[in-house]
Amino acid sequence: MVFEHDVLIIGAGLAGLRAGIEAKRKGVDVAILTKVYPVRSHTNAAQGGINASLDEGDSWESHAYDTVKGSDYLGDQDAIEILAQEAPSDIIELEHMGVIFNRDEEGRLGTRAFGGASHARTYFVADITGQALLHVGYEQSLKYKIPTYNEFFATSLIYEDGAVKGCVAIEMRTGELHVFKAKAVIIASGGVGRAFEPSTNALICTGDGMALAYRVGAPLMDMEMVQYHPTTLPSNGALLTEGARGEGAYLVNSNGDRFMSTYAPNMLELASRDVVSRSEQTEINAGRGIDGCVMLDCRHLGADLIHSKLRQIWELARDFSGVDLVTEPCPVRPGMHYIMGGIKANFNGQVKWGESAGQSVPGLYAIGETSCISIHGGNRLGANSLLELVVFGRRSGLHAAEYAMTQKHANVGESRAEIDRKKITALLERPQASDMVGKLRMELGDTMNQHVAVFRDEAGLKTAVAKVKELKQRYQGIGLQNKGKVFNTNLLSALELENMLDVAEVITESALYRKESRGAQFRTDYPERNDAEWLKHTLAFQTDSGPRLDALEVTITKWQPQKRTY
Ligand SMILES: Cc1cc2nc3c(=O)[nH]c(=O)nc-3n(C[C@H](O)[C@H](O)[C@H](O)COP(=O)(O)OP(=O)(O)OC[C@H]3O[C@@H](n4cnc5c(N)ncnc54)[C@H](O)[C@@H]3O)c2cc1C
Repeated sequence: MVFEHDVLIIGAGLAGLRAGIEAKRKGVDVAILTKVYPVRSHTNAAQGGINASLDEGDSWESHAYDTVKGSDYLGDQDAIEILAQEAPSDIIELEHMGVIFNRDEEGRLGTRAFGGASHARTYFVADITGQALLHVGYEQSLKYKIPTYNEFFATSLIYEDGAVKGCVAIEMRTGELHVFKAKAVIIASGGVGRAFEPSTNALICTGDGMALAYRVGAPLMDMEMVQYHPTTLPSNGALLTEGARGEGAYLVNSNGDRFMSTYAPNMLELASRDVVSRSEQTEINAGRGIDGCVMLDCRHLGADLIHSKLRQIWELARDFSGVDLVTEPCPVRPGMHYIMGGIKANFNGQVKWGESAGQSVPGLYAIGETSCISIHGGNRLGANSLLELVVFGRRSGLHAAEYAMTQKHANVGESRAEIDRKKITALLERPQASDMVGKLRMELGDTMNQHVAVFRDEAGLKTAVAKVKELKQRYQGIGLQNKGKVFNTNLLSALELENMLDVAEVITESALYRKESRGAQFRTDYPERNDAEWLKHTLAFQTDSGPRLDALEVTITKWQPQKRTY
């Protein structure tokens, strides 16, 4: 079938929903396409909160500066200024939409401290902030009568005559491929956590949108910047929110020392995530860990606070580690959590490419974790991602709607869908093989987690590059056990793997390319930050022989790079 909308959004996380609401407010015909039901998007898992400088005594400049410093000066400062300036009104709007933020005894919106922030400016709903936001976002989309194509999996963008004109998607229920014509497409498909195993991310975070944009020629930016969160559970990688440390929890080593005093004497446990994760790994490598972990100690916070404000992580620690946070410290370690890089876009979400990525791709937008508007640079501050979703979701929805109003529907044929149909038929018809999707996924995840983690070096990165190439080769020979059409999750998992392999190749090559240490990229063979040569973004463009890498100037408005200490 052929569907037609003015603005089509791929992804129903908070970024996609917020964009949809704004586009609809402008009066255009909007639809959202999503591979899972909207409220199952990974935004649902966000725990700790969302940042804004609403408090008296706080300022947007302070929020912006903390973000720039947190990014290790790699964030684009024009976009960061917009993020910090527009945050307060967006939080108030979320409140008016129905998010029941935590309030203090006087009834004022309550905040908690978060890593790398010089002021407590994180607004929260216990430790289920993402769930509260996503459900309200979804309610609003229903109120605005925005249709969602649930359980539709986008396989390609339709790019013809120099513009993006829609996408192709599989309807999971039937296995049919459909054409979605659109004047503007907004990619809001989330991150690529599952290219690493374990990860705090949901199983659906497979970098689909990044791969789709990359394949039509859009560059992926700063993809080496992968955040390892300091407090994840060793058993399955589940996250214990930074909000725990925000409420006052300690990190201790096997000697019982609060070791962060050595690495970040001022901010201690609330230094930025790259710094805390590196410190933990240094302790563990020096033999001061316990079974490859350090301890998160919440006991002094008391049962009341833990049960009211940190209820979800109390349950996670109990269920997956058998630990009662009220009475025992919990083993934690750095774990893959977030990708700062993504599809290169500007502060209206417009995807950029060409010479110095200076040109917009007509009709294409990217927002949320899949994008790199370059708010987070080398390291994202906790609680800035949810904020990014609402600020740039709103801005891109508006821009895409205004753009769509100037366009006519193009005459889009079935040719792109035909290519995808043939590819999928060939995949289904291939005989069973010993290489199965799950096996390759695990090998990829293990490799990335071993060599592209907190500490990296040339030898390890080259091993990872070679392994990803080998896996890409083996992918050509995989066989599927399920040959059916209806809800063939085996097929979808194979398509996700193909996407992750392309994105993982970019991550590894970008990490090899950046010969310095900045933010989340710490190269033991280049341990210093090198502003003279590397105060630059990395751009990766697809070619037949793998990614072509290039560099791009960082936008600096007010804050010149300084030595970064916490
Ligand atoms: C455990 C955890 C806790 C976090 N806590 C916080 C926090 O406290 N504060 C904070 O600021 N950030 C936090 N983050 C980060 C933040 O939650 C995410 O970066 C953010 O929610 C991503 O939102 P999104 O809208 O970009 O994408 P997502 O919410 O990931 O949604 C992606 C959407 O894209 C759709 N999709 C993907 N591929 C396809 C395809 N091929 N076809 C069709 N649809 C597709 C999916 O169905 C889904 O609807 C946390 C992240 C995790 C993993």
